[in-house]
Amino acid sequence: MEMRRLMRLVLESQRFSMNEGNRMSRRSRNRRVREQRAQSSVDELTTILLNHNLSNRVRTIAARDLVRTARRHNLRLPDSVRHWICRSCQNPMLPGVGARIRIRRGFRVTTCAVCGHIRRLPVSRGEGKNE
Ligand SMILES: [Zn+2]
Repeated sequence: MEMRRLMRLVLESQRFSMNEGNRMSRRSRNRRVREQRAQSSVDELTTILLNHNLSNRVRTIAARDLVRTARRHNLRLPDSVRHWICRSCQNPMLPGVGARIRIRRGFRVTTCAVCGHIRRLPVSRGEGKNE
């Protein structure tokens, strides 16, 4: 008699905890956790990339991982980051180190020092606030 009541309590508590877990599906919960982790990685890698005190090697790795993480998790990198990474080889295009930057006819022409990829951006729009 006592045993049966105990069994019923155990079963009820199991069902309760299952319902708790089902309030949000496991898939959507995992997705949210994954996206939060990806976002915090992007934030951390961005500070590494834009930190002028770190060595070029570290910043190169940060740039590569940023592109890789954003691609894997379908995240959009902020303009302040994307403009400083080569689109073709992911080299950080740091002024004077990883890239040659010239202003020509209202465009900022950025040439990657590693692969020679050229990127042209209008100077007037939005550049002031990014750097
Ligand atoms: Zn390049």
